[in-house]
Amino acid sequence: MTRRRMIYEGKAKILYEGPEPGTIIQYFKDDATAFNAQKKGTINGKGVINNRISEHVFTLLGNIGIPTHFIKRLNMREQLVRQVEIVPIEVVVRNVAAGSLSKRYGIEEGTPLQRTILEYYYKDDALGDPLITEEHIVCFGWAGQDELHDIADMAIRVNDFMSGMFAAVGIRLVDFKLEFGRVWENDFARIILADEISPDGCRLWDMATNEKLDKDRFRRDLGGEVEAYQEVARRFGLLPETEGATVLDMQSHRGKLDS
Ligand code: UDP
Repeated sequence: MTRRRMIYEGKAKILYEGPEPGTIIQYFKDDATAFNAQKKGTINGKGVINNRISEHVFTLLGNIGIPTHFIKRLNMREQLVRQVEIVPIEVVVRNVAAGSLSKRYGIEEGTPLQRTILEYYYKDDALGDPLITEEHIVCFGWAGQDELHDIADMAIRVNDFMSGMFAAVGIRLVDFKLEFGRVWENDFARIILADEISPDGCRLWDMATNEKLDKDRFRRDLGGEVEAYQEVARRFGLLPETEGATVLDMQSHRGKLDS
C-alpha cells in the first residue's frame, strides 16, 4: 500500500488524505464492533462487501438527487469521497421496532411502526452515544435549525428510496443509521450525506424467512455473518455467482482480496 497520511482510524474504516484538497479516501476494514466497542471481532471480507454495497446505494441515491460525499470507488477496499465537516449526530430511521427502541420502550421486535420514526444520537463514545432531541442539537450548536430540517428531509427521502430498493430484492429495511456532513461553498455551508450505508448500520430482514442479514448476526452471536453480508451484495447483483462459489470466495482463496 502506498504511504499516505492517515487522518483518522475508526471502528470499521480508516480515513486517508485524498489525492486532491477536499478529498478523502475511505478504507473499509473487516473489523466489527458492537455495544460501544465492548464486543470486538472481524468478519472476513466485510470491508470489501461494504465498500461495494455502499458504492451501490450512494450511487443510486445520487441519481435521485440526494447530495452525497461519494465520488468513486477506487479498489476493493477503498473509495474516494468529499471531505466534510462531520455533523456529530447519528440519525436513526426506523420502520419496524427492533434493537434499542424495543428495549427502551418495551415494544416487541418486529412490530411494524405506524409511522417512520427519526431519532438522533450524539456521537460521543465516552458518553455512549446518548439519545438526544432536536432541542439539544440546536441548543448545543451541533447543527442549525435549517440544517436539521435538511437532514430530516433527506433521511426520509433516503428511507423511502431504500425501503423500495431493498423490498425489490426481498429484504425488509427495519432500521438504519445515517451520518451527514457539511461542505463549504464560499461562505455557505451545505448538508450532504456522508459515511457509509451497509449491513453494518442497517437492520435487514429477509422478507420470506425473517432471517437477519446484518450486523445483528455478530452482535447476537448468531454466526453466518460473512454469508449474510454476501447475500445482500448478491441480491443487488454485486457478487455474480460462478458455479456455486461467489466471485468473492474465489478471490479470497487466491489471496487477492485487497488487490
Ligand atoms: N446503528 C449504527 N451505529 C450505532 C448505533 C446504531 O449503525 O452506533 C444502527 C444499527 O445498526 C441499527 C440502527 O442504527 O440498524 C438502530 O440501532 P439501535 O438504536 O437499535 O441500537 P442497537 O440495538 O444496535 O444498539
